[in-house]
Order: sequence, then C-alpha cells, then structure tokens
Amino acid sequence: MSITGIKGMNDILPQSVATWQFLEQQARAIFSVYGFEEIRVPVVEKTELFCRSIGETTDIVEKEMYSFTDRNDLSLTLRPEGTAPVMRAFIEHRLHNRDALNKLYYLGPMFRYERPQKGRYRQFHQIGAEVIGLDDPRIDAQVLAMLSHYFDAVGISAVSLQINSLGCPKCRPGYRQQLIDFLSQRLDSLCDDCRRRYGSNPLRVLDCKATGCRQATEQAPSVLDHLCPECNDHFSRLQQHLTELQVPYSINPRMVRGLDYYTKTTFEMVTGALGAQNAVAAGGRYDGLIAQLGGPDLPGIGFAMGVERLALLLGEDAIASPSPDLFIAALGEAAARQAFIWLHQLQRAGLQADMDFSGKSLKAQMRRADKLGSRFTLVLGDDELASGQAQLKRMADGQQSPIELDQLTTQLRAALDAAAAASL
Ligand code: ATP
Ligand code: MG
Repeated sequence: MSITGIKGMNDILPQSVATWQFLEQQARAIFSVYGFEEIRVPVVEKTELFCRSIGETTDIVEKEMYSFTDRNDLSLTLRPEGTAPVMRAFIEHRLHNRDALNKLYYLGPMFRYERPQKGRYRQFHQIGAEVIGLDDPRIDAQVLAMLSHYFDAVGISAVSLQINSLGCPKCRPGYRQQLIDFLSQRLDSLCDDCRRRYGSNPLRVLDCKATGCRQATEQAPSVLDHLCPECNDHFSRLQQHLTELQVPYSINPRMVRGLDYYTKTTFEMVTGALGAQNAVAAGGRYDGLIAQLGGPDLPGIGFAMGVERLALLLGEDAIASPSPDLFIAALGEAAARQAFIWLHQLQRAGLQADMDFSGKSLKAQMRRADKLGSRFTLVLGDDELASGQAQLKRMADGQQSPIELDQLTTQLRAALDAAAAASL
C-alpha cells in the first residue's frame, strides 16, 4: 500500500500554486509599501512560549497544539500561530535597539490539531504582520487600512471588517467579573465547554457557536460599556481615523478572539462564503505581551490571514500557471536539433519556450502548443532552416507574420509586446 499524507495536512498542487504565489506576492508588495520588513522564524519553538503568550485556558493551548519532546526531553511545539515566535525573536535580538518602531511580516505554515473540514486544517498557512513600538490609534487604523488595501488588491470583496475593543488590564477585570456574574445565572443553558470555562475564560462564551450559548448571552453585558476612559478614547479615535481613511467597518461587541494576549483593539475580516469558518483574517493589539515574555514594555498590534481561506474565496485555480511565450514545432532531425539550441537561448533571455521531444507529427505538436496555451508558435522545417525565415503564428487570432530566425529573440519579444498592447 502506498503511503499517504497526514490527515488535515494538504499538498498544494501545481494547478493551485499560481493562486498561492499571487496571494503571497501581493502581500509582499503591499506590506512593503507600508514599510513592513519580512522576518522568518522557525516552525518549532519551546512549548512554554505558546503557553505563556496564548494563554493556558485557550482552545489552542488546551487542545490544539502539536507538542512533543525531543531526544533531550525538551518540550517543543510546532507553532500554532506566528505572533509569539516573532515576539520571541524580537526580544532575543533586541530589535527595538535597531529602531523604535518595528513593522514586521511573516508567512508560512502553522499547526493546530483541529477537526479537519473545509477551511480548517491541521497544517495551514498564515500571512501575518506586526507593528511594535507605538500605541497610537493611527497605527491601528493604518494596519486595518493595509489589510483592507490587501483585500481590494487581490480582488476579494466578499468580506467585511469587524472591530471591537477588549479593554486593558485596568478595565477588563471589572467587565470579566460582571460577565461571570451574568453567566453564573445561566449555567444550565451553556454547553459543556462553556460551563467548564466560564470561570477561567468567560469572554470565550460570547464567541461560542452553540445555539444555547448564543441565546443565553444575547443580553450579556457589553465590553464596550465597561471600557476605561483611555480604552474608550483609543477606540473612538480609531473609528474616526477609519472613517477619515474611508476604510469600511462595523462594530461587533461580541468578538473576543481566542488568544489571551489581546488588549484594546481587536478585529476580524469575516465572510459569509465559508460556512462556519467565517474569519479570513484576525488580529488585535497586544500591549502587554512583550513585557510578559520578558522583553521591554512595548505595545504591539498585528493580524494573521489564513491563506487557505483566501485561496478558497479567490478560487484555487483563479490564477493560471504561466504559459509559454513560444512553442517551436520542429519537423525532422535537423530542425529539432536547431530548435533545441534556440529554446535554450530564448530561456536564457527570460522567455518561456517549449518544444516537442518525442518526434510527434506536426498536428500533434500544434495540439500540444494549444494545450500549453502558448502565445506564439513557430513551425520549423528544412525550408525554414534553409531560408532563415519562418512564420510566427499568434495563437489568439491566428495571425501569421514572417520572422528572421537569426533575430528570433528580439522579434519574438517585439511580437509579445505588440500582442500585450493589443490585449491579446
Ligand atoms: P477560527 O475562529 O476560524 O478558529 P481563529 O480565531 O482560531 O479562527 P486565529 O488564530 O486568529 O484564528 O488565526 C487567524 C486566521 O488564520 C484565521 O482567521 C483563519 O483564516 C486562519 N486559521 C486559523 N486556524 C486555521 C485552521 N485550522 N485552518 C485554516 N486556517 C486557519
Ligand atoms: Mg480556531
């Protein structure tokens, strides 16, 4: 029996890769416009890093981590998210000494032991960004403006931005207690998970998808009514900036996020197109996290987008793989030998060229050129070799034009430019 891949860990096949590369390239291009630099961190970290940052009572730490001990009995974990490793690297390499404001982005695989379903996998990929060093609400607005710019640029419009504020260590404990009091009157209506965690992580109950929990919390106190003046001011200034920058958003006071380190601003880019997997991107402010991990007391804000969910929204095959600029159909041994040399020269010049290697008939070679979606074809036989001239055929409209074979590269390039100008 042949060996299969691991459940929930997907291969990204060649027919989908162009879409993935597009999503990644757009992120690199847009994030760099906003002054972000890439950071690359390992996929494995000490388990303690995630327990201390994400929080012991979160779903991720309680039941989703891929943890194991290495040969030296050190507990390691495949990273379930990117913020904690990036902060660990930030602190370890004292990046705050390099610049008071650091804007970083990352992309790569994350691992969570979840029940696999559409849009939810055990190895998935995130593109994330973090801004460390400033707690000005303009930074929050800029991060959200960049996120919204990204969705516009890749052409995903079936999403909307929701924002909320989770308060800070000054105001959240009071709200938390109110929520616990509220929930304690309604324990019978809560699901098992929520009944267990209402005392340790009551905010999570607001986020529970179970109908009973939804109904029981309809009248729950809103976090937004319990913000301290500072958090309140931060949240209203953020809204002002978003309005001024014309970034559309709505407020969702029930959005709590599944990670403990968030303070003040939290947000999600949500969609109705992926069933229960409604968040495509999510993030927030984490002003205490860096100090909590032993670093300087610096504020931060960031988000992560799920690339699988982006690709599902865009369509896995939305972007086609690049097709040849030229297919040379060679007839006979001498022509095939010459075609093989020209093929190499064209490729060295950066043009995508292809030919047939199995001595097929002209008809079969043209079929292959068609299947590959080649922009131009060239039939090369003894006559063409002798005269040094051939017909270059533009596949979009069948137009033929004579070409000098000793100037194949430059003339093909001119023909490609002309076709592009005519949108062919
Ligand atoms: P969800 O509510 O869907 O479980 P989450 O709150 O756990 O999401 P985050 O930890 O904030 O998600 O991660 C940010 C983004 O990463 C999500 O919005 C989603 O697009 C993506 N993501 C998270 N978990 C998975 C997964 N198991 N498979 C695929 N994508 C995921
Ligand atoms: Mg989750």
